[in-house]
Amino acid sequence: MNDRVPADDVLVTADQRHMIHPLHFAADHASPKIFTAARGSMLRTSDGREYIDGLSGLWNVHIGHGRRELAEAAATQMQTLDYASAYAGYSNAPAIRLAERLVGLAYDNMAAAYFTTGGAESNESAFKFARYHWKRLGRPDKVKIISRRYAYHGVTMAAMSATSLPNYQTMFGPMVPEFLQVAPPYPYRWTGNGDPGIGAADAVEEAILAAGAGTVAAVIAEPVMGSGGVIVPPDTYWPRLRQVCDRHDVLIIADEVITGFGRTGTWFGLTHWGVQPDLMSFAKGVTSGYLPLGGVIVSKAMHDVIQSAPASEKFMHAATYSGHPVCCAVALANLDILENEGLVERARVQGDRFRAGLETLRSLPAVGEVRGIGMLAAVELVADQASKAPAKGLGARVMAAATERGLITRLRGAADGPPASGDTICFAPPLSTPEATLDRIVQIIGESIQAAS
Ligand code: PMP
Repeated sequence: MNDRVPADDVLVTADQRHMIHPLHFAADHASPKIFTAARGSMLRTSDGREYIDGLSGLWNVHIGHGRRELAEAAATQMQTLDYASAYAGYSNAPAIRLAERLVGLAYDNMAAAYFTTGGAESNESAFKFARYHWKRLGRPDKVKIISRRYAYHGVTMAAMSATSLPNYQTMFGPMVPEFLQVAPPYPYRWTGNGDPGIGAADAVEEAILAAGAGTVAAVIAEPVMGSGGVIVPPDTYWPRLRQVCDRHDVLIIADEVITGFGRTGTWFGLTHWGVQPDLMSFAKGVTSGYLPLGGVIVSKAMHDVIQSAPASEKFMHAATYSGHPVCCAVALANLDILENEGLVERARVQGDRFRAGLETLRSLPAVGEVRGIGMLAAVELVADQASKAPAKGLGARVMAAATERGLITRLRGAADGPPASGDTICFAPPLSTPEATLDRIVQIIGESIQAAS
């Protein structure tokens, strides 16, 4: 039944004529879903239907939709100081307070924050921080950036070059030079010998040695890979990677754009493995997506290098909206809710429960693996559990069946990644999602896999 209202058809036509979407493909917009409202963990579309927001928007709406506190924080700040430059010599209170608070929440070695408007810009900035650092220390040849296959770090030029999901690159080459890729710690599909955590960390060391340690600035890595299919590394990986990087004077950029602000059940992802990075990029959950904000937090050692620079070597990196007072005020209100409502702890407890529910789907022949950490989970689909052969097209059919049943979430299609990966359905519901809704996600996805297999 088509219960679209006429105004909606007008919007659809205008969308098709005038809007270019992220990941644009015209066929996707023959009949787009037009979101009109959202509350808690539910989304509403213009045809009056309600959907569970199984991915918190795009992994970002940690506190759930529709919180008045954030709207009020934005309105108050806009009426007090809507915008002002934070360039050299200028500052504003919400940005200062947020920088101080983020440093307090982040790893013990962190000292100072630079603000951006999103994840890709944060990673672009992090690459520049790393190169700047080595140039300041008289090692100007340390410029290369190592990332891992299946990584997603954004799609601006350098971030795209670090991202390693081929179909994000096919039509936009050549990539920026001096970006290298190595094997990810992906236990389910590890083909090397021995522990995949050790093997994947050693792959980084091999790449450093092959390139020449004197040419490598940094390794960028998501603590837990998100868009690549929620790939949780073995416990051996991060401690070993830290040792490798220390041995060769290579900085670690932790891309915490998805794992930040409680998503994995701790404020930031590397806490699970007791490892500290040199820089960390963040975005998404810092405002729960209510306004665009991201940034980079750097270690005390890196901050000292910036603070002691002579005028000829000052940090000439900038953006109009760095330190935007309204975005920062909204972030502060968001952090209040995460803290006051215990949502980080809730992500750990409810996430364990949610994933235990998903585990019951392992009995379905199409389910190869269920994995995750905190309120981050994935079901990898296969044609055959024994051979782990990818199930071609099954993921798209499961997604369609799930949407029909009232669940919106995201597929990392086998076609996106390097060969021999399966279709993977990803979940990252708001940290506040009620138990009954989490149970409903499990039920819908189970039914959808059965219906589509
Ligand atoms: N890094 C990671 C780990 C991400 O998941 C994303 C977005 N999904 C980005 C960076 C890019 O963020 P943005 O879309 O805000 O540029």
